[in-house]
Amino acid sequence: MIGHVAEIAERVRAGETRAEDVARAALARIDALDGGEHGLHAFLAVPREKVLEAARAVDAKRAAGTPLGRLAGVPIAIKDALCTRGVVTTSGSRILEGWVPPYDATVVARLASEDAIAIGKTNMDEFAMGSSNENSAYGAAKNPWDTSRAPGGSSGGSAVAVAARMASAALGSDTGGSIRQPAAFTGTVGVKPTYGRVSRYGLIAFASSLDQVGPFATDVRGAARVLSIIAGRDERDATSRGASVPDFEAACGASVQGLRLGVPEEYFQEGLDPEVAASVRAAIDGLKDAGCTVRPVKLPHTRFAVATYYVIATAEASSNLARFDGVRYGLRVEPTGGDLRAMYGATRDQGFGREVKRRILLGTFVLSAGYYDAYYGRALKVRTLIARDFDAAFGEVDAIVSPTAPTPAFALGEKTGDPLSMYLSDVYTLPASLAGLPAVSVPCAPTKAGLPVGLQIVTPALDEARGVALAAAWEARSPARDAVPPLAR
Ligand code: GLN
Repeated sequence: MIGHVAEIAERVRAGETRAEDVARAALARIDALDGGEHGLHAFLAVPREKVLEAARAVDAKRAAGTPLGRLAGVPIAIKDALCTRGVVTTSGSRILEGWVPPYDATVVARLASEDAIAIGKTNMDEFAMGSSNENSAYGAAKNPWDTSRAPGGSSGGSAVAVAARMASAALGSDTGGSIRQPAAFTGTVGVKPTYGRVSRYGLIAFASSLDQVGPFATDVRGAARVLSIIAGRDERDATSRGASVPDFEAACGASVQGLRLGVPEEYFQEGLDPEVAASVRAAIDGLKDAGCTVRPVKLPHTRFAVATYYVIATAEASSNLARFDGVRYGLRVEPTGGDLRAMYGATRDQGFGREVKRRILLGTFVLSAGYYDAYYGRALKVRTLIARDFDAAFGEVDAIVSPTAPTPAFALGEKTGDPLSMYLSDVYTLPASLAGLPAVSVPCAPTKAGLPVGLQIVTPALDEARGVALAAAWEARSPARDAVPPLAR
């Protein structure tokens, strides 16, 4: 079993464990749990030699007396949407099959600079479009709590890697819920930082005004440590913010006495599973016991969030994905006797999956002359209204607490025939994304069937520390603390 981030780093730093032994243990777990027909399929690539080489380099550094970084020897899984130098990066798509990036994403380089071990690339919905992992061109990852169920998405592989303790932490990306929802479905901790808090350089773009990289971990402290390391200004991402980065880990254990929690009425209505509601209400009561006060708040534009998101995100995706045309990256399909246009068409037809095509079509439509103002322009205005709802609520409360997702993990195949019902699984995560706000998902009591449930905590911009403090305060009382799926024990 692979332990928590801080435990491993402290033991490797103290010389009690060798990084190579930790890496071998993680690889052995991946061998035992991930491969084959019955495996979890969290990983798309595991570069064994590079993993062992990196671990030996950490051990050699220590032997030479050089102080080790804050993630010394910690196995961290990397979502396949993040570029990794020399390691195949597909973003879950056929169109990038076999593509090897010539550079590391900034976040990947920052983990390495703290002596983390990038253990492998994780499965995901193609170009991060999806909520179940089933849009992966390479087959879905499975939920370790019940392998007939989806792990959530799009960062499902990262969530599964952590839930099954094949890694202590993972990087994911969250555009409309892709870290928080899979964290909720798998009983892991996930953080979506404030938009601009973490560099997007080397993250394969889906919807650039929403995309944000963030951590998954087995505990709040581990997620906080990884966040402290990946956050901060990067010259290579013009949208990354210069705000100073606090030590988020220091917020674990901070008092939450007197913090005012808002419970949005709009999130506890039709469509919410009663067991999820009860579990989340119990978690909110737990935070009350820790000294918080609780009151209802209103986020009246919530009901427009799904529609607004699916206009803005698809519009941006249609533009971002135009670069995959068979010329510079990955797949190229050349029909015999065809011209350049035919090559573009054939490449994109064979390279992209159904959901990606659906979104390119929708996004192109909402941006087209004659429809731009009616759809895209209007969605931007509603986005502002949604952000103002949060501004108003944060005039009265310090954090907003809710379920992360309306249901526990649904069955694989349950929603694939009905895109709209899939889109609705993001109702509670989309508003904070549209408003650019940070949000944490932390496990609360499981359902009777033993499925994980997530509590979402949204805080004001750049106040991830308050979200971390609240998540840690709840985690300390949560019956789900340190819960490991039976097949991974
Ligand atoms: N499930 C949402 C979508 O399909 C969000 C995905 C994400 O955050 N990358 O777009």
